[in-house]
Amino acid sequence: MQENKHYDFIILGSGMGGLTAAAVLAKNGYQVLVLEKNHQIGGSLQVFSRDKCVFDTGVHYIGGLDKGENLYQLFNYLEIYPQLKLQRLDDKGYDLIRFNDGTSYLHGQGYENFQANLIEQFPEEEGAIIEFCKKIKEICAYFPLYNLEEGDDKSTNYINDPEILAIGAWDYVSTLTSNERLKNVLLGSGPLYAASKTKTPLYEVALIMNSYLKGSYRPIDGGSQIAKAMSKTIRKYKGEIIKHKHVTGAEFNENGTIKSVHCKDGSSFTANNFISNIHPAVTLQIFGKENFKPAFYKRIQRLENTISAFMVYITFKKDAFEYLNYNSYEFFSDDTWSLTEYQGNDWPQMLFVCTPATSKSKKYAESMSVMSYLESSSFEEWQNTYNTISEPMDRGTAYEAFKKEKEGLILAKIEARYPGIKEKIHNIYSSSPITYRDYIGSPDGSLYGIAKDYNKVLATTINSKTSISNLTLTGQNIVFHGILGVTISGFVTSFEYIDKSKILNEIKAYENEL
Ligand SMILES: Cc1cc2nc3c(=O)[nH]c(=O)nc-3n(C[C@H](O)[C@H](O)[C@H](O)COP(=O)(O)OP(=O)(O)OC[C@H]3O[C@@H](n4cnc5c(N)ncnc54)[C@H](O)[C@@H]3O)c2cc1C
Repeated sequence: MQENKHYDFIILGSGMGGLTAAAVLAKNGYQVLVLEKNHQIGGSLQVFSRDKCVFDTGVHYIGGLDKGENLYQLFNYLEIYPQLKLQRLDDKGYDLIRFNDGTSYLHGQGYENFQANLIEQFPEEEGAIIEFCKKIKEICAYFPLYNLEEGDDKSTNYINDPEILAIGAWDYVSTLTSNERLKNVLLGSGPLYAASKTKTPLYEVALIMNSYLKGSYRPIDGGSQIAKAMSKTIRKYKGEIIKHKHVTGAEFNENGTIKSVHCKDGSSFTANNFISNIHPAVTLQIFGKENFKPAFYKRIQRLENTISAFMVYITFKKDAFEYLNYNSYEFFSDDTWSLTEYQGNDWPQMLFVCTPATSKSKKYAESMSVMSYLESSSFEEWQNTYNTISEPMDRGTAYEAFKKEKEGLILAKIEARYPGIKEKIHNIYSSSPITYRDYIGSPDGSLYGIAKDYNKVLATTINSKTSISNLTLTGQNIVFHGILGVTISGFVTSFEYIDKSKILNEIKAYENEL
């Protein structure tokens, strides 16, 4: 019975960051327990199915997975890579960026393809395109752990040069070219990181873009396979994972350290150390305002989060719509980087479109996922509802009707870009910002957690250590979001407890064996 057992580590939340920390610590001999509130583990790796089609909720494509690249090596250390079923996206273009006038541009895989495509379309801008690629690579070199290197400093922090964090991405690209279309094309996958001209740092763009340029893959039959493979590794090393455990509070020892956490169902679990994979603002509420410095508590609660999304999930009639081996960023404006501030009536201004890869057919798509930004305040009326498989609740017919309205707006724009698609659709489903809020536990259903801001580097950089000596943080708010970022965050957090050099050498040894 796990309730009577004492663990070395309890990890709150089974997102990829939490699972990574659990696997690394278990593999290094610690007794770990992961507590997850949902019916499914994986956080944003969760999937669901409709009409026998599997839909990803939060991971559509993953970078850094070509042989020898960073995530490939980390996944090998975590002993999951060989089990994964992955579809490599098109070399000539893994992302397509389409503007209001219908003109489209491809982001090719690999720096050579990326540059060649764009130089063909912007021959007079060759210098700017080459300089942009050079800068992206140069920035990535400042982050030792991103390159699986220890770095000069012996701290576990993954950042070596704070000045690099303070460069704005849009500002930087504006120094390279005055061609507005080129700027919007170079930074056209901005919805991947909720891009903002006045906030998004260049390093965030660099770390994410570089990873996609070095191996973009789609999970075949859903990203939950990654979470399942992680759970196998954790269990292989005697770690435990318990679902339906919604952590709500903690008990403390007299010396101010955490003794145990308790859950909504009344159960409680004790450990020496606790790692939270839950959003920092929520983590601090769980462990009690009184246990943190007031200024720190206030700062974390006030930090701005990235926007949420409305998702439309389409299932197709059999063999009706061809599979697209790339993602499409469909913009209904010429300005791709002002969408998070967009308040206009002609929503949506951007759609992220992808057809999930399945093992059933390579030629035809079974389904399509369509994402558009939407603030959770649009669903204000249902703010007090909570609905997950683990804790179900009917939000009512008015909620369903409101979602149908939004689906209709998205569908009209999809039809404009893919004429005739409506005839090919079997069924349409959708999820709202409050679906994300309930399933992930991030405030307002924020997609990527705390918004990074190059003007407020210190305030928006969250350390994995906290003022409670046996509590650390992991996940998308610690390093950067995305599967690569949170996997690195799991290692960063683990390095608070185990020898970084030893683990990095072991990661490299795996690479040499393969
Ligand atoms: C719509 C969308 C699209 C995305 N697309 C991509 C993509 O294509 N590629 C990519 O790499 N990344 C993508 N991302 C980002 C990526 O999915 C996330 O950055 C990453 O998965 C977050 O991992 P995490 O470790 O921070 O944990 P999370 O996934 O945030 O998981 C946190 C976990 O904690 C649990 N939890 C919360 N509160 C409690 C509690 N009180 N008790 C117990 N458990 C709790 C939650 O249930 C959840 O399982 C996308 C995200 C979204 C939302």
